[in-house]
Amino acid sequence: MFPDPLPLARSAVDRDALSRQDPELISRMLTSSVAQVLIVDGARIAIERTDSTPELLQISGNDFPAAASNGREPEQFAYLGSDAHNSYLVVDAGERSGDLLNQIQQKMPHKQLHWASPRQFGTALSDSETGLVTTALALMQWHRRHRHCPHCGATTLSIESGWVRQCPIDRSQHFPRTDPAVIMAITDDADRLLLGRGAAWPEHRFSTLAGFVEPGETPENAVRREVYEEASIQVGAVKYRGSQPWPFPASLMLAYTGNALSTEIIVDGVEMLEARWFTRPALAADVEEGRVILPGKASVARVLIEHWYGQPLGTSPNHEWS
Ligand SMILES: [Zn+2]
Repeated sequence: MFPDPLPLARSAVDRDALSRQDPELISRMLTSSVAQVLIVDGARIAIERTDSTPELLQISGNDFPAAASNGREPEQFAYLGSDAHNSYLVVDAGERSGDLLNQIQQKMPHKQLHWASPRQFGTALSDSETGLVTTALALMQWHRRHRHCPHCGATTLSIESGWVRQCPIDRSQHFPRTDPAVIMAITDDADRLLLGRGAAWPEHRFSTLAGFVEPGETPENAVRREVYEEASIQVGAVKYRGSQPWPFPASLMLAYTGNALSTEIIVDGVEMLEARWFTRPALAADVEEGRVILPGKASVARVLIEHWYGQPLGTSPNHEWS
């Protein structure tokens, strides 16, 4: 059975899109004791840790330390939705990321506060926390990267509780981006798995091949094109397996399995340094002896690899505090 949902596809909070239109929503939540504020800084989110269990840091709206008014752009907030107990906001700590966490830490000395990435701890979160984290990171990184109008270059303003940016000059509206990417477990007729070692990855990291879907292309054709580009392997039938957000910064990972029509590997040596066909015993031995380091448990790649293998591989813990 292929895991459903994938680790970062879990969610339990109502996104409540209708409430976003209320222009007073965010300021009202910042005076409320049931509103919870999550804090992000780029691709990291603030967490609190007791022993080895991470939890999202959540500050009541009325306890959130307001930024000093200094004439700069107001802080970027966005409304994430609500559940039966709370409503949720996210703020980008931006320039005061260090100060803000220290300030909050002083108010809760019994907790250890950290910045962390769900790449490291994603599988340890609840369904509710997972949905909040992936939405918060994707949305706030979009705000950081899309401050200017693509038509006229003016600085755009955040409206609709952080879900739209609008140009003050030509009134054009701009919406958060999600970039579809394919990630695929390709097997040959002997049921060997194709894994590659990308140039940008840590040493010994092998993973399934992946790449972005191009304009005018289907995900299925992107699977075939990417595998051919990266390893010169031709792929025939492919099967969709599931999806999960991967907010680093804006990907939606679409998972596929596929059958190779050829087996001779040629890598480009630039993007992909090496690619190999692995049998199950060979991969298990390489992982055991540290010659192959697999991607983290929250990744689709790890799920695809373990699905092919038939059980969990290696001894790496669920959350990795690298
Ligand atoms: Zn404009």
